[in-house]
Amino acid sequence: SSSFLDQYDTLDVIGNGSFGIIRKVRRKADGMIFARKELNFERMNDRDRKQIVAEVNILKDLDHDHIVRYHDRYVDRDAGILYILMEYCGGGDLSSVIKQSARTNRPIPEDKIWSYFLQILLALNHCHHPNGHTRSSSSSGTGSALENVGTTTRAQILHRDLKPDNVFLDTADKVKLGDFGLSRALTQTNFANTYVGTPYYMSPELMQEKAYDTKSDIWSLGCVIYELCALKPPFYEAKTHQELSNYIRNGRIPPLPRGYSQSLASVIKSMLNLNPAMRPSAAQLLQHERLALTSKVLE
Ligand code: ADP
Ligand code: MG
Repeated sequence: SSSFLDQYDTLDVIGNGSFGIIRKVRRKADGMIFARKELNFERMNDRDRKQIVAEVNILKDLDHDHIVRYHDRYVDRDAGILYILMEYCGGGDLSSVIKQSARTNRPIPEDKIWSYFLQILLALNHCHHPNGHTRSSSSSGTGSALENVGTTTRAQILHRDLKPDNVFLDTADKVKLGDFGLSRALTQTNFANTYVGTPYYMSPELMQEKAYDTKSDIWSLGCVIYELCALKPPFYEAKTHQELSNYIRNGRIPPLPRGYSQSLASVIKSMLNLNPAMRPSAAQLLQHERLALTSKVLE
């Protein structure tokens, strides 16, 4: 046995990931609870193995209050298992919130929706605009060679699989964006071309097999916020991939249920613009009056 594994008590299995189970573990030293993803990499092909390494590297770089925090990793070469230790989110995820609300016939209060919306946006903003969206220009006449000294540059990250089941909650109902398994760090180019995901949240540009960028995440976010109101995705009536594509390209979003404000409806609509360039960025959305207000309340 290893000193890494010896530091934890193994508790319940809490999830089944694509490559292995997720367990709740307790650190013996202080009783702290973590989630531990156990990935069997021996059975993986080269492509999947690369994806896992990418996922760990992405998580490691992301340090944000609303993103599932990465703590440690350990490779057991003999057993062929990669252990990833991360923050435990004990409050389930948004898909269970939606299911619960539909089952009990109690709409999710609008204030709650704005609060989830804000927290997901803060996480996305951190991924999409790693160095802040407003670049500080040199105020003095210093040469450009000096401008970037001391500036941390981190690659832009796309989530690429934003849907209610990947938005986790902690026990205080705080949003923790997780499952970056399909995301890719963007370095050289601004696009990542391969997409695998749930068709319901797929943006029109992806339906046409065009490139994925930050605005495709914004489309998916629009679908998630819509679903928090309507308790079903916006193009739920579609039975086939082709039908879904037609519905989306028609650009007609079914109205929200009664009781939700015009302000919420119109910001959702702006994210579901067929033209990616016309969708607001995460940074722009954070300027929204209602979200700015929500952020004051959260403080
Ligand atoms: P997959 O790529 O298979 O969707 P996920 O990372 O989404 O893998 O994990 C699968 C499930 O395990 C999640 O839906 C969730 O129920 C549970 N889970 C994953 N990570 C955590 C965590 N950090 N805290 C609590 N539960 C988690
Ligand atoms: Mg998932």
